[in-house]
Amino acid sequence: MLKKSFLGLTNSRIEYELLPVKVPEPEKVAAAQTVTLLHPTNGDQSAAPAFRAGDRVKTGQKLALFADNPAYVISSVTGNIASISPYTGNFGKTYSAITINIDHNEKLDEPFENQTPSLDTAVAHLAFLPGNPAYSILADTEKTINTIVIAGVDDDLLIGTNQYIVSSALNDIKKGIGILKEISGVERIVLVTAGESMQGYGNIGAEVKGLDTGYPAALPRMIMKDVLGEVVPAGSHCEDMGACFMSAEAVASIGKAFVNGQIPVNKILTLVTKDGTQRLIETTIGTPIRDILDKYDVSINEEDRIILGGPMRGSAIYSLDHPVMPDTNGIVILDRKDAAYASDYPCINCGECVRACPAQIQVHMLVRFLEAGQFEEAADNYDLLSCIECGICSFVCVSRIPIFQYIKLAKYELDRAKATEATETEETTEATEAADA
Ligand code: SF4
Ligand code: SF4
Repeated sequence: MLKKSFLGLTNSRIEYELLPVKVPEPEKVAAAQTVTLLHPTNGDQSAAPAFRAGDRVKTGQKLALFADNPAYVISSVTGNIASISPYTGNFGKTYSAITINIDHNEKLDEPFENQTPSLDTAVAHLAFLPGNPAYSILADTEKTINTIVIAGVDDDLLIGTNQYIVSSALNDIKKGIGILKEISGVERIVLVTAGESMQGYGNIGAEVKGLDTGYPAALPRMIMKDVLGEVVPAGSHCEDMGACFMSAEAVASIGKAFVNGQIPVNKILTLVTKDGTQRLIETTIGTPIRDILDKYDVSINEEDRIILGGPMRGSAIYSLDHPVMPDTNGIVILDRKDAAYASDYPCINCGECVRACPAQIQVHMLVRFLEAGQFEEAADNYDLLSCIECGICSFVCVSRIPIFQYIKLAKYELDRAKATEATETEETTEATEAADA
């Protein structure tokens, strides 16, 4: 158990937590009776799924629910499907929630062995790995990726998950690096680690670079600037500059899957409870948050806040049945007295957000457009797309305006509008070509 004060956040320079050199092993937390796997859908939940309640599944089995949708999940347990129900996540993203009653007489699915490493194999079988590997970027033929950056530090405060993976699973990371080079053809791999932990990596097939420990140095755009020397222009993404980011846990999971012939289903995460105590935990993907909190007798009172991710960039959840996902690196429980609840106070033009913003955005002006839902104007005139999504503005705002949440929503809506426009253009072009033929 690691005990740290949450009060570090009040320093003018906000520091990432560095784990001690000798990190205790994660504590194992088992799911009590069920796991729930969130299978992405394309919004249309009317198609008949390929599995139904009562079906038996094995640990490591691929569950692809819909014939016209390449998405799938990997069963993290052996048991019977109890239910498949619609689920709506952040920003209205739709999922089918597959709940499985656990049978402790575990049966492993066909081993994932004798597989020739390839990107197609990884996309088809290893998308639901702990750490959530970003194959879609590597597989996108419109992007030219020349560098894979492995994040050995979590991007949010108080979360030590990927630091732990780097300190404990270097051999798996090394194997994963070799496989990533083989399947992607990308030769340059850069492992970024916490500044003080750069020693002892030996030859792992990657450049090892230390990061500054001041928040938000571990955010991808900051790594691009400080480590790779590239500034990502407003409106562009790191992949547009040739860089693909993956977590250390994802790379270690790829190494384990190909070398051990078994798809990993256990997730490492950092639990931060109300008194600031941090614990590293190992649990099965799909474990309800409730089971983890029960193990440590964490009681949740009305208005306490449960955050998935870290305190600066995480998202609040409202049900203890919410499961651990492949990318759940942290769970932070805030007592209601510590939770900065959003208010409906207006901006008082104090300028705190402007002074704190690392992207030098006129946040006090930006927020006015965001509050009015004028997202395009916010992008065109007030640098919305230069925002690196650090959340510092929300943290310092004396009026407790949920600026970061507004920014995330605005970017999501703009991306959605762009995707819809691209689809419509494609359909119009196809229709015109068909009419001309
Ligand atoms: S989240 Fe706020 S502080 Fe951070 S870059 Fe964006 S506008 Fe600036
Ligand atoms: S910190 Fe909040 S109140 Fe102050 S200028 Fe920024 S948005 Fe307005």
